[in-house]
Amino acid sequence: MFKKQAEFNLELEKKTCVITSNTDQELVKTILEKLNIQKSDLEAEVEIIHTLGKLAMKKVIILDEDKILEKGLSKLFDLKEDVLILLDTFSKVEIKELFTILVESSYRFNTFKANNAQSEVNLYYYSDNDFAAQINAGMIYGEAVNHTKQLVNLPYNYLNAKKLTEYAKELETIDNLSVKVYGKVECEAMNMGAFLGVNKGSKDEPQLIHLRYTGNKESKEIVGLIGKGVMFDTGGYSLKTGTGMPTMKCDMAGAATVLGAIEIIAKLKYPHNVDVIIAATDNRIGDDAIVPDDILTAANGLTIEILSTDAEGRLTLADALWFAQKEGATKLIDIATLTGAVVGALGKEYTGAFTNNQDFVNELLALSEKTKEKLWQMPISEGYRKELKSFSADLKNSSSTRLAGASVAAAFLEKFVENNNPWIHLDIAGTAFDEKKGGSGILVKTLAEYFNK
Ligand SMILES: [Zn+2]
Repeated sequence: MFKKQAEFNLELEKKTCVITSNTDQELVKTILEKLNIQKSDLEAEVEIIHTLGKLAMKKVIILDEDKILEKGLSKLFDLKEDVLILLDTFSKVEIKELFTILVESSYRFNTFKANNAQSEVNLYYYSDNDFAAQINAGMIYGEAVNHTKQLVNLPYNYLNAKKLTEYAKELETIDNLSVKVYGKVECEAMNMGAFLGVNKGSKDEPQLIHLRYTGNKESKEIVGLIGKGVMFDTGGYSLKTGTGMPTMKCDMAGAATVLGAIEIIAKLKYPHNVDVIIAATDNRIGDDAIVPDDILTAANGLTIEILSTDAEGRLTLADALWFAQKEGATKLIDIATLTGAVVGALGKEYTGAFTNNQDFVNELLALSEKTKEKLWQMPISEGYRKELKSFSADLKNSSSTRLAGASVAAAFLEKFVENNNPWIHLDIAGTAFDEKKGGSGILVKTLAEYFNK
């Protein structure tokens, strides 16, 4: 789809050219002058201008660099024609970012559509400089984000825990990346009562998926990326409503995100050690399914009284956090479509970030400014921790009130962080999926960028 063009001559070029509105750049200035266009005439992120014989090419596409980082370039792929992107007209968007945006913008979820032919549009690019490394990196980022979107968009009958395992296994072809999978019996041997409790209503076997990328053999530091992998969430006996249940195929978006992130980290050989842990299962009703009042014992020994079987993500994450630390993770980031409460607080605009270590989250907040994947820090404090006190067990899986559900959920996860290991919890319940746009692939880039140093 992407092709390098060796030469460029404005007088002769017939392909539709893509430039920016950056008038500090000579070529942009020349083209706009020839077309008699003022910069102030341009409003949208993508403006399509007919040249009406003033240039050899019939059309010029002018991009607003300030807007395309957030809005993307989908419109380019709706044109269904070959274009030539003039890379030297870009000054604000880096070439790596540009190619990430281009690849991301080419994604369509048409797996199940009768007319599912992939776009055969060629994107030629030209530059006087050598951008090969940036282009390669940008395309790897974009492809990984698209893989994440695709995983999120696939429904349960095409993607259960076993299928996710198969997908993860395919990543093993990347250098220095290994994959280990633990089935039900092995998880039982590790006493993962919290994770296995969620699986009890399912006919499908749970899978604990562990990917390890070793990018720095000299270092003992391992960052654990833990993604919530509830492949479909009915709520269990605390059943979701008819309006609340559709779209719950997206309850594994955290898992899809960490798989996307490690794909980038490993392909670009970032010099860090990274573990990805996914406790994958669906959550549904069935003869053996857990019910409220049940008490589960997590792998770390803590007993958990079930208030709501719909607060299942934290149960799977509790044992996944334990496993990550047992395997040597010294820093932890979990990412999960965890609570409706975070959607109430932040909507679809921001992901909620919680932490026990301000310096750690500050790094991620700064990176997210650059990737335009918005994060907003939310509190964990004593008042929220108290909500988890249980009469019958060490803690409850949910508060009895409906207040501050996102912070109470974070306080629950915090109980499973050992030795005050630096930890960040990202609640993407509002940002990972949209009914009309599908999976967003949010935070794949930020998580990968964290290791690009
Ligand atoms: Zn749930």
